[in-house]
Amino acid sequence: MSSTPFFDVRMKGFRERTSVVDALRLLDERVGVLSAETVPLLECAGRVLASSISSPVDVPGFTRSAMDGYAVRADETPGSLELIGESLPGRGFAGTVGPGQAVRIMTGAPFPAGADAVLMAEFADERDGRVQARESTRPGKHIVRIGEDVTKGSEVLSAGRQLRPQDVGLLASIGIASVPVVRRPRVAILVTGDELLPPGSTPEGVRIVDSNSPMLAAFVARDGGVCLPISYVPDRFETVRDAIHFADADVILVSGGSSVGTEDHAPRAVASLGELAVHGIALRPAGPTGIGFLPSRVAFLLPGNPVSCLCAYDLFAGRAIRHLGGRNREMPYRTFSLPLATAVPSVVGRVDYVRVKVTDGSLEPLASGGASNLSSTVVADGFILIESERASLEAGELVRAFLYDPHFTMEPTGPNLG
Ligand code: AMP
Ligand code: MG
Repeated sequence: MSSTPFFDVRMKGFRERTSVVDALRLLDERVGVLSAETVPLLECAGRVLASSISSPVDVPGFTRSAMDGYAVRADETPGSLELIGESLPGRGFAGTVGPGQAVRIMTGAPFPAGADAVLMAEFADERDGRVQARESTRPGKHIVRIGEDVTKGSEVLSAGRQLRPQDVGLLASIGIASVPVVRRPRVAILVTGDELLPPGSTPEGVRIVDSNSPMLAAFVARDGGVCLPISYVPDRFETVRDAIHFADADVILVSGGSSVGTEDHAPRAVASLGELAVHGIALRPAGPTGIGFLPSRVAFLLPGNPVSCLCAYDLFAGRAIRHLGGRNREMPYRTFSLPLATAVPSVVGRVDYVRVKVTDGSLEPLASGGASNLSSTVVADGFILIESERASLEAGELVRAFLYDPHFTMEPTGPNLG
């Protein structure tokens, strides 16, 4: 790991770079899951459960019918029975079903004492206060037992679960009103670059529109974080330092200003406020990425070039945000192993993030162009990572591709790797 004591790379270049593997290991060691908070049931979907939940009740808490029909004594079917009443959902029949008797019963209604089975409505005719059971039923038929869905005391959901819609329904069914969930990481996005106009502006003259912060905000939302309002920070050391210092967040994402230019103040700012644990990663693009630790906050210095920014977010910042929020740390992409259409050169000692398109069942590397061409990531179906040990990947080699689209499907002509 580099950078203690602080070495100012401006106009000099990186002396050494941290490997991707070491940077990931450092993050995993130093970033932990946030504390819990309690949210109302109706707000817990998609959140991560902070502690396991056991049911305080049986569901159902009473014996009930699973069908519309008649509560009967099974050994009296088929036969002619006296209809003595009705059990409706929420309004049961108060009496007892005696020999030769039946009670009309609806799905979900309490099952009356004395009976032992439900005969489906389809198998009976009602006439003159009597029920003609045309078919037989057997004891226990179409009766839902107490606790059949959920047994009192059983664990229904374990800690760490990202709550699905049906989980919320189940929690409601056992009477839960508020749910302990992992706090969502609060993320400050600080945008540096005096050349930038805010999103919604038209690029004008030598000024370009900030594409990083809207992209980052979308990533943060995907990963379960909450973004604070975006801050634009002038390219001066003091303003960058103060913006980082006063950011009231769990995670600080600094866009731009992390490289070797004279206006790249963020690394020195982080080093002056806390620990710049990593600056410079053996990765292309996104080499000028930095990772810093400030009291109870982690800062990511994301290079300004949009593809680098995307890559550094996805590999490092996103991992920390997901982990802080109690989610799976790994990138939330589907992967497919597919043959490479053409060889891809790389360099030993560096990881390459290569955008790819899936064509006829194989991976076509996109001429990576500059890290400034964000359109390459829009055209791409996903990316591959070339490991540090490899000097190149060969044509035909099976490579794991990460697909940007969660519903990506292979063309019908491609191999079925579903
Ligand atoms: P920097 O990392 O600040 O040296 O910026 C590297 C390149 O990325 C420069 O061409 C910047 O103009 C560009 N850039 C920096 N920030 C952004 C941004 N938020 N949106 C789009 N391009 C940016
Ligand atoms: Mg800049």
